[in-house]
Amino acid sequence: MTDTQNHVCARCAAESGTCCTLEPGLEEYCFPLSAEERAAMEEAGARERHFCRQANTSAFVDNLCRLFGAEAGRIRALFPASGFHDRLAVTKAGACALLGRQGCRLPRSARPYYCRLYPFWIRDGRQLYFQFSQCMAQKEAAGTAALLSSLGLSNADILDLYQRLRRAWALPENA
Ligand code: SF4
Ligand code: SF4
Repeated sequence: MTDTQNHVCARCAAESGTCCTLEPGLEEYCFPLSAEERAAMEEAGARERHFCRQANTSAFVDNLCRLFGAEAGRIRALFPASGFHDRLAVTKAGACALLGRQGCRLPRSARPYYCRLYPFWIRDGRQLYFQFSQCMAQKEAAGTAALLSSLGLSNADILDLYQRLRRAWALPENA
C-alpha cells in the first residue's frame, strides 16, 4: 500500500463506514476467506474473534456466482449447500471486527485479497469497479485511471491480486 492509499482510506474510515462496514443483516454476503488468507491474517495478529463460520446459504452462493460470471459451476462445487466457510466477523453495527478509527488494523499485505482489490474486480476477463457512493476515493477521482492512482494500484496489481485470490481457492488462473 502506498501512502496515498493509506491517506484516502484512512480519511474514508474517519468519515464514513467505508467498504469495511455492511448493513446489519447482510453478513452472509461477506466474501469468503480462504485458509491461506486466514493464516496470513493470523500471522499478522488476527484472532479467533475476528473470524466467523458462515453457512453456504443459497443467497451467499448466488451472489458469489454473480461475481464470478461464467464460472457458477465451479463456485457451486466449492461452496456446497450443506457446507460452511470462514468470513470476517462484524460488530452489531456491521463493521468488520478488524476496522479501527484509521482503517484496517492489519498491514495491507495481510489483508484478504478481496479487501485489497476493492472496489476493483475482474469478471469474465474484464476489469471493473463497483460503484459505492461512500467511497472517498471514488468521490475524489474522475475515471478508472484516477481511481487506481488514488488507491495506489495499477492494472497489473489488480490482475495479480485477482489471480492470487483465484489460486487461494484453487480456481484455474486464466479464467
Ligand atoms: S479485513 Fe481490514 S480491509 Fe478487510 S474488511 Fe476488515 S477492516 Fe476492512
Ligand atoms: S476503498 Fe473506498 S470505500 Fe474502501 S476505505 Fe478506501 S476510500 Fe473508503
